[in-house]
Amino acid sequence: MNKILENTFIDGPGSRMAFFLQGCNMRCLYCHNPETQRLCNHCGECVRTCPTGALSFDGGAVHYDQARCVQCDQCLEVCPNFSSPKCTVLDDTSVVELVKKNQDFLDGITFSGGECSLQHRFVCAVFQALKRETKITCFLDTNGFMEHSALEALCEAADGFMFDLKAFDNRKHKRLTGLSNDLVFRNLAYVSAKGLLYEIRTVIVEGFTDDASEISQLAAYVRDLNAYTILRLIPFRPLGVKSWMQNLKPCGRETVVNLHRAASEIMGNRARVNLSGF
Ligand code: SF4
Ligand code: SF4
Repeated sequence: MNKILENTFIDGPGSRMAFFLQGCNMRCLYCHNPETQRLCNHCGECVRTCPTGALSFDGGAVHYDQARCVQCDQCLEVCPNFSSPKCTVLDDTSVVELVKKNQDFLDGITFSGGECSLQHRFVCAVFQALKRETKITCFLDTNGFMEHSALEALCEAADGFMFDLKAFDNRKHKRLTGLSNDLVFRNLAYVSAKGLLYEIRTVIVEGFTDDASEISQLAAYVRDLNAYTILRLIPFRPLGVKSWMQNLKPCGRETVVNLHRAASEIMGNRARVNLSGF
């Protein structure tokens, strides 16, 4: 587990507890949580940068002492492995108990990452227990790149999916992530037909994914897919990015407002945009 947000309003509908799992099958150039991509290989590189002694190296492994950590994130900056020494290991029972303690303040929980479908058995176990024992909803935020058996199991257990579509254009998707989006689109269609595709999200990077005709094609695709899925445009921010994209300027308000207007003309108020921070 990389991180837990106890109460968030941007990771699905309503008030949610969000769990960010460690490990990802994509290497997105604009990833703003690159420390979630890989599991720690205990190289020890981060230990000497820690200013408070929260990290130590013992028996060939890095140990993390949360009580001494001041959350300066210097360890994340120096990690050459897109990882974090601050990850914790939690079993499904611990997660369920944590959620149950907070359920009066929550509409639901969301598993994100990293790529949460890589741990689909764990995710399903948590969702199944919460369905039995609470009334809150269970969502996933996924890049959609998973084999059918994992998707089928998650569809049985989840109340909704948010798909992070990295690019509508397959060449751009490959350049951004290293992978084709063919499987993502097959999975999108499957989840849509199950009535579980709450939202498709896509990041607008100026000079890369800000092509008006591509966003219009995406809006038409979502409009024709079903009558309920939201399309959300998210402006790119370079904060946390570790690739050459860290040198790109943030997406401008005018760019994203214009793209949102174009998408709204095609699919009405199911087109949304994140404008917080402008
Ligand atoms: S977090 Fe990164 S730098 Fe630290 S031990 Fe793990 S892989 Fe090495
Ligand atoms: S964030 Fe990392 S470097 Fe900073 S105090 Fe915590 S463990 Fe040490």
